[in-house]
Amino acid sequence: MAPPKKGDLTDEEKVLVHAIAEGNVQEASRVLGCKGVRVNSLDEHGMTPLMHAAYKGKEDMCKLLLQHGADVNCNEHEYGYTALMFAGFSGNKNITWMMLEAGADTNVVNSIGRTAAQMAAFVGQHDCVTVINNFFPRERLDYYTKPQGLDKEAKLTPKLAGPLHKIIMMTNLHPVKIVMMVRENALLADVAALGKCYRVLDLICEKCIKQRDMNEVLAMKMHYISFILQKCITFLKEREDKLDGLIKSLLKGRDTDGFPSYQEKLIRDCIRKFPYCDATLLQQLVRSIAPVEIGNDPTALSVLTQAITGQVGFIDGEFCTACGEKGADKRCSVCKMVLYCAQDCQKQHWFTHKKVCMKLRDQREKHEAEVAKQKEKQEKTKQNKGESEEAIEDTSVPQEEPSDGHNVVEKTQSGEPAALSVSESGINTAASETEQTSEE
Ligand SMILES: [Zn+2]
Ligand SMILES: [Zn+2]
Repeated sequence: MAPPKKGDLTDEEKVLVHAIAEGNVQEASRVLGCKGVRVNSLDEHGMTPLMHAAYKGKEDMCKLLLQHGADVNCNEHEYGYTALMFAGFSGNKNITWMMLEAGADTNVVNSIGRTAAQMAAFVGQHDCVTVINNFFPRERLDYYTKPQGLDKEAKLTPKLAGPLHKIIMMTNLHPVKIVMMVRENALLADVAALGKCYRVLDLICEKCIKQRDMNEVLAMKMHYISFILQKCITFLKEREDKLDGLIKSLLKGRDTDGFPSYQEKLIRDCIRKFPYCDATLLQQLVRSIAPVEIGNDPTALSVLTQAITGQVGFIDGEFCTACGEKGADKRCSVCKMVLYCAQDCQKQHWFTHKKVCMKLRDQREKHEAEVAKQKEKQEKTKQNKGESEEAIEDTSVPQEEPSDGHNVVEKTQSGEPAALSVSESGINTAASETEQTSEE
């Protein structure tokens, strides 16, 4: 079939463009099933249906079009815009990711010489910039699995490329998570293998800085992962408890408040050792971290995470205290102040958390008692004023209070604290399991 010409749309293809504008996936699917309808047809500006869908921020539509073979790298637009650029304009992170996964080339430039990341930044869609800058195609890593130039052997064995790529693509940068990923892969958890991996990461880091379209974000990420892998090597060589020892060190909280100071110092040290001193990102990170006393917010990890992934804050309560995974829904049953993504994380953390758990529980109970007292006071004064019941309920519960807070206070006021029945590990399995299912 001849390549589509600009503005040469059949009636059905016009219906498809209309369905995309309306967001009518069913209709689009019907039209795409018709004989002779081209998924890569071009309107008078050289826009494909996929470009329209990406620009309009229609995720399901993009998925449908890609399933029908839409060309993600079509570059017939009058100003050289690609579907990835349109995804960036829309500000939709998922669509941007979808285009990248479908093989969108990030180096293509439009008629004024700008890449998709630069265009997204130009229109202020910084989430999309982050997605583009963090994307690292597998082929770029596979390049190192073949001998290059004068090399006799490849820098990376093909079997290591898979697990290493998985780590590179992570947006959870918690060092414990990275070490856990290394530990769970027997091939990777080996001094020689890790040596190969970190050297390749250092090479990629250098490339990111020296390439024409410099990518400091990805360079910093590569340097950071390389640094953690080098720590893994040190522990594998020198410690009897190997990677478990590293995880323990990373989790260990100081006596006063349980703050993981080794972890904090390690990440600060890593940032400081970024080899390209002129990098704007490095200076920005150092400026944010240097004035902060160890133990205060923001932590080096949260500053680094925000710079690399654009994700803000670890403190809003849904992240695992041990490994930083999002969506943690298991609470320490004693203090109810820390969250975990899995029982294993809670077990790993208990050796250090147990030192502050009771203290945290007391703090929470004190806080809740105060809140309850205040609430009572408020209710009394409001009842005296004769205000409506709804108004009382609106102001009574502060946002940060746990949903079961009121019950806990009642129990503790009646004598024994609620949590003394808990096992040595501090895990109340049955409770966390039921909590999980009932929330869903
Ligand atoms: Zn976890
Ligand atoms: Zn606790």
